[in-house]
Amino acid sequence: MQAAVLRGYGQALDLVERPALTPGPDQVVVQVKACGVCGSDVFLRKGGFDSVLPIVPGHEAAGVVARIGPGVDGVREGDPVALYYIEHCGECSMCSIGRVNMCLSVRRMGVEYDGAFASEVLVPARNIIPVEPEDDLAAVAVLTDAVATPYHALVRIADVQPGMTVVVFGIGGIGSNAVQVAAHLGCDVIAVSRSPAKLELAEQLGARVLVSAADDAGDVVEAVRAAAGPGGPPIVVQTVGSAEVDAQAVAAVGIGGQVLLIGSSVSPFSIRAVDLIWKEASVHGSRGFVPDDIREVLALHRSGVLIVDHLLGRQRPLSEANEALDDLEAGRVLRSVLIP
Ligand SMILES: [Zn+2]
Ligand SMILES: [Zn+2]
Repeated sequence: MQAAVLRGYGQALDLVERPALTPGPDQVVVQVKACGVCGSDVFLRKGGFDSVLPIVPGHEAAGVVARIGPGVDGVREGDPVALYYIEHCGECSMCSIGRVNMCLSVRRMGVEYDGAFASEVLVPARNIIPVEPEDDLAAVAVLTDAVATPYHALVRIADVQPGMTVVVFGIGGIGSNAVQVAAHLGCDVIAVSRSPAKLELAEQLGARVLVSAADDAGDVVEAVRAAAGPGGPPIVVQTVGSAEVDAQAVAAVGIGGQVLLIGSSVSPFSIRAVDLIWKEASVHGSRGFVPDDIREVLALHRSGVLIVDHLLGRQRPLSEANEALDDLEAGRVLRSVLIP
């Protein structure tokens, strides 16, 4: 098998040849057909997750079952599958209420164990989600994270309802899909970005109001609040890895509103208790997604409600994993998909 390995933070990945993987009890080996390159992979390369090196990145993947370990049933070699990247125990206090993304002994593919920037990946059998033979596996791959992450924030964390105003800060791989998911849910969407091209994409995906955050554009928070109308926006989704934008999101949220933080900044921002108290507003972290989020976005994609064309424009062989990470870091693409 081939794998792209990170040996040192800030370094280029090495493409190496490794022995074929062997599944143990309750494990399967999946032949990777597609793996999205995500902002988290850039974050990983910088050392953001403190992963133990060497590590093979890659957590947004789909493929076909190649080999099945002892004790696994209900799956056959050759079955097409999406991968749920969060290994979970199924028994702890979080797993027992269905919040398996918060498992107390969570291990993430491509962060704590070797991921799918590889021709094969070894995963627990409970982490494969069967898909339809006619599904495009590149689309399945990006649906598992780029679409499921904002879906989780909007549907499970915030429980947004039709007619609500949803502000999305940042129209990247996550934010663009926050826009289309919110529009699908019947919300009135305000998109905020520094980039005219990304605002245009947000409009195509269903945003009604476009707010420029370019340096010469004026006060973003005022523009958002004015567009949202009396009371301000009830839902603000923050997808930019920036403490400055974290603060803007909190300042923009309306009466009784919720801020959903998805963009992972490690820098602090300041917040005054009274600004939350007077608005009875709340700030939530939203971390990844649960397997049902993947099943639901797959169904919405099959029915044509959610699209992923904007995420699939740049497909590269595994040998170009470094170029794909560089493209994302430089903002040249929303996503690339590696096709091992
Ligand atoms: Zn990701
Ligand atoms: Zn657990």
